Amino acid sequence: MSYLPPDLRNRLLEADNRHCAYCYTTEANTGQPMTVDHIKPQVQNGDTVFENLCFACRRCNEFKGSVSNIQDPLTGEMVPLFHPRQQSWTDHFQWGESGLYVIGLTAIARATIVALNMNNPVIVYARSRWISVGWHPPTSSVSDNDDVT
Ligand SMILES: [Zn+2]
Repeated sequence: MSYLPPDLRNRLLEADNRHCAYCYTTEANTGQPMTVDHIKPQVQNGDTVFENLCFACRRCNEFKGSVSNIQDPLTGEMVPLFHPRQQSWTDHFQWGESGLYVIGLTAIARATIVALNMNNPVIVYARSRWISVGWHPPTSSVSDNDDVT
C-alpha cells in the first residue's frame, strides 16, 4: 500500500466506511485493515487521486491485480470492472440467500464477481458464519442509500 496524505485517507474512510468497495466485506469481519486499491491500476497510469481510489479487502485487491476488462460470463461481452467511485454498488449488485452470495445484476457486476472471486467457497463459508451472528450483510449495502454520513 502506498502512502496516502491524511486528507485523502479520510475521504476514503468517509466514502467506503471501512468496507471493501467491491465485495462489501467489512474490516471488522476480516480483522485486517482495508487496502487502498487503484481502480485504474498504477501500471496503467491510474492516478493516486480520490476519484481513482477505493478501499478493498485483501482478497479482492489480490484477485483484481491489474485486470481492468473482463468477459461477462453470461453474454461473453468484454466489459470494464465495476468502478466504485463512478457506479453505485446497489445498482449493480445485490445479496442472495440473506448475504451468502453476491449476485450480479449487470454485465459489469457479473464480470467483476468472476474476476475478484467474490463467491469462492472460502468467503461464502466465512459469510455463513458472519450471517449466523448478525455481522453480515453490512447494512450500508442493503438499502439504496449508500450515504455513510
Ligand atoms: Zn472485497
